[in-house]
Amino acid sequence: MASFRTHIVTGSAVGYVGGSVVAINYWFFSDLTPFFVFLSSLIGSMLPDLDSDSGKPVCLLFDLLSLLGGCFAFYFCIQQNDLPVYYQIGIPPIVALIIRYGISTLFKKFTVHRGIFHSLPAALIIVLATAGLLRWFSEMAPLDILVISLAAGAGFVSHLILDEIYSLGFDGGRFKPKNSLGSALAWRSSSVPVTITIYLVIGLLVLIHWYLNIEGVKSPF
Ligand SMILES: [Zn+2]
Repeated sequence: MASFRTHIVTGSAVGYVGGSVVAINYWFFSDLTPFFVFLSSLIGSMLPDLDSDSGKPVCLLFDLLSLLGGCFAFYFCIQQNDLPVYYQIGIPPIVALIIRYGISTLFKKFTVHRGIFHSLPAALIIVLATAGLLRWFSEMAPLDILVISLAAGAGFVSHLILDEIYSLGFDGGRFKPKNSLGSALAWRSSSVPVTITIYLVIGLLVLIHWYLNIEGVKSPF
């Protein structure tokens, strides 16, 4: 398993290249999109390790996610003109606290490290969920949403590939794979109910996008 620092460096590099490609080819409408592509890939590269219960990286990750969640909630609240000001002040810190203490506790309780979070269907969920959130809560153009969501998926997959590379062990010039080889770039979990659940979540997210299409929210796909 690669270290947290290695994942951050790789996620930043993938995001930098992705943001540059988007900027050079003008695949954006908002000037901030290339930066969001970078940020999205960086966050995506950290997400698979959400399921490891102990250590600083997970705490740091939830600190970062709660901060981003609070900022996102604030951004959403100030766009709602008819929302009373005390809601605008009160909601963002509540969202941040729920992510930091509520969701992180649930994650620790229900996830197994190197379980379904380290898998390709989980990467697909990240792409669909990012696009869904941006479609629902932001005014971004479909092209911007598409490149930002794909960047989150690219960062996530970079983490999986890196974990697989670190599972390739060499002992005295001889190839000696570690037990974790093949557990990161997987299509399914060893548990059938978990595998069924993750594909049901993908189906649900596709349905949400379909519903948003009917509602007339512009589709990036
Ligand atoms: Zn990992």
